Amino acid sequence: MQPSLARIAAMAFLAVLTLVSLAGLVLYHATLESEQQISRRAPAYAGNLLASQISAIARDWSRATQAIAQSPLALRALQSNDAAEQRNQLALIGSLYPNLGDIHLISSDQARGLTPIPSMLDAQQKAMIEKARAAQHGATALHAESLALALSEPVRNTDGTIIGFVLVERDLTEVRALFNQSPLIDGYAELQQVNGTSDTLLKRGNEQLKTQGVPELIPLTGTPWRLAIWSQPPASGLARDLRQSYLIIGAALALLIAVVLGMAYAMSNRTLQADLTMLTKLFSDITHGRIRKHYDIELKEFQNSYHIMYQLAKMAVGKHLRVVSSAGTDHLSQVNNRRSFEAKQHEVFGRVNEGWAHSLLILDIDNFKRVNDTFGHDAGDQLIVQFGRALKDNLRASDFVARLGGDEFCVIFPNTSLKKATELAERLRENLPQRMELMPNVIHAVSWSGGLSEYSRHDQSENAALSRADQALLDAKRAGRSRTEIKAAA
Ligand code: GH3
Ligand code: MG
Repeated sequence: MQPSLARIAAMAFLAVLTLVSLAGLVLYHATLESEQQISRRAPAYAGNLLASQISAIARDWSRATQAIAQSPLALRALQSNDAAEQRNQLALIGSLYPNLGDIHLISSDQARGLTPIPSMLDAQQKAMIEKARAAQHGATALHAESLALALSEPVRNTDGTIIGFVLVERDLTEVRALFNQSPLIDGYAELQQVNGTSDTLLKRGNEQLKTQGVPELIPLTGTPWRLAIWSQPPASGLARDLRQSYLIIGAALALLIAVVLGMAYAMSNRTLQADLTMLTKLFSDITHGRIRKHYDIELKEFQNSYHIMYQLAKMAVGKHLRVVSSAGTDHLSQVNNRRSFEAKQHEVFGRVNEGWAHSLLILDIDNFKRVNDTFGHDAGDQLIVQFGRALKDNLRASDFVARLGGDEFCVIFPNTSLKKATELAERLRENLPQRMELMPNVIHAVSWSGGLSEYSRHDQSENAALSRADQALLDAKRAGRSRTEIKAAA
């Protein structure tokens, strides 16, 4: 499938969408789970908190009642037979504990039975006193109908005998307020009396939950009550207080999206770079007057422009080659082309009777085909270019260098004897580089074979010297390459 910027963007968008969906799914499950944990823990936590608050209040009441029972005021009142004195002591106690409730002092005289001070006792109060007497210490009871709590403590004289009782009766305003206002109970809760009838004293929440499960029972120490709590079953949907989880998942998501976008960017960037490199290559080839059959352009968006550029380049290179060729330069090696060579040879051969000797050397790169086969045609081209340049660099300006075709070059040494040319050819063999870097990290050991001859006035044709040199070259190749053979004119 051909890459395109639009396709890469679409793939990145799809990847981000998948990530968001996955994160949503994870988030949904995480929330459900923690929601269930919260609703499982919340009632127990709320119930225990409420229980300890109510217990603390009850303990305060009980301690205050005990303090009254042990005070000299209560003792004096119960030892006195003077009703006025008794009322005075009771008023003093009342002023010391203004918010405790209704405080009664009850004389316990076995002979006289119970004598209420200051008022008559009702049946429930009498029952309380009996309980306190039996227990030999404090007792509590509850007026279920009026929701009032009664606490009683025995009053003892110095030898320890019970001479009466303190009876405190109070309503449950604080307990009721605590029970109703506790913000933590989510479900249904009851404040129940434990003993006897297990009456429900207070209730709160959705009573229907009572039919749906077993309550959690929390006893309230120091009181005859307990809390019973029925939990709300786990609700569906997202919980509210999960900002932290959202934050973590949000951050992870942002990171993943950044990675995906980064990858998409890197991918498009790499493709873009590769295409730009290809276009640069095309441009570079045009400036060198050549063009390849094909350039790999990956991005779809570049295709149309590339095809137009390629057609234009082909036309330009064709024109360039025609111009260069007529100008006499070989387009690849930038030395003279065959046409120039023939012109030069014609000129040199024309002067052969003037008395000056002229020589020529054919050079053919050894095993050139292997370079093409091993490293590609581009590397072969490079070898031709570098070989041509090396020849020019190592010869005098008066020597004439040409590329005859393929990997074959020829040098005409005007006004030079075969003997002198032999020296020059040997010097060339010493000085031409023996290694050439054809591509980055591809270093090739270069050798060449040579055929040397001279132009002779006895020659019938101007090409005769070239033929002798060619023959000498063939001998050099046959003799094992990397050498120069000489074939003088007859
Ligand atoms: P030898 O030592 O006998 O000369 O062996 P060789 O492999 O060099 O053989 P030969 O000289 O016959 O090979 C010339 C090859 O060069 C044949 C052709 O495929 C290749 N060739 C011709 N023109 C060009 C060109 O412009 N560029 C490249 N890269 N290769 C070319
Ligand atoms: Mg060759």
